Amino acid sequence: MEAQAIPLFAASHSGTTTVGPVILLGAPGAGKGTQAKRIAEYYGIPQISTGDILRENIRLGTELGKAASSLMERGELVSDDLVCQMVARRVAAPDCALGMILDGFPRTVNQAEWLDKHLAEYHFFETERGRKRPVVVQLVVEYNQLLRRLTGRRTCPACGRIYNVFTTPPNADGVCDVDGVTLVTRKDDREEVIAERLKNYEAQTLPLVSYYSGQKLLTVVDGAGDPDEITAEAFKAIEHGDRL
Ligand code: AMP
Repeated sequence: MEAQAIPLFAASHSGTTTVGPVILLGAPGAGKGTQAKRIAEYYGIPQISTGDILRENIRLGTELGKAASSLMERGELVSDDLVCQMVARRVAAPDCALGMILDGFPRTVNQAEWLDKHLAEYHFFETERGRKRPVVVQLVVEYNQLLRRLTGRRTCPACGRIYNVFTTPPNADGVCDVDGVTLVTRKDDREEVIAERLKNYEAQTLPLVSYYSGQKLLTVVDGAGDPDEITAEAFKAIEHGDRL
């Protein structure tokens, strides 16, 4: 069947159909956050970034934040148990009723298995045609470009907008275009930590590629290309994926 063109950033999706879980898979710096925001906005479903939730817990000084903080600063993964409990709480919220974009989760095969079980057990995304299975979009970017993206990344602590000093710098050095707030570099975007994060990605997260491709749920996208084209590919996977 001819794929139907999907208007990019048209007002929005209807907001009433079940989209189901959309999983963005990719190394740190592959562009998951940027794409997650676009998809979330278009479909009217939440972006669930486990990294953002953990950073918020650190900021608030919660027990979870205390447990996660030193691991994150070293570029290591937080335990599956803690992260799965955190995701269970988040996906129980009413805004996840029609779907959600998982950005940075699952990151291990254990987490993926937990997610499958959890969604089935709690009857997530059941439609008259059956239960919507995840759409998994893998953003592939080569190592040197990832390094460049991560070392150049600056974030606005007020609005969350992401810049890159090499490729998408703000108009004025070090300051957000939107609200004039001073941009920050994430603690784990230092070079020695980046190497650890990329190593952990290969060892612990890459096995998810065969986990999901084995279930015919995976769409592989060149994450180095034009961000609008990447979004279009993700939309296509969501609209046309045969996931029932
Ligand atoms: P991110 O913002 O996705 O790059 O995540 C930042 C850090 O948070 C990671 O390096 C991990 O330490 C931690 N983290 C985020 N998501 C997960 C996850 N699904 N499992 C374990 N640790 C995670």
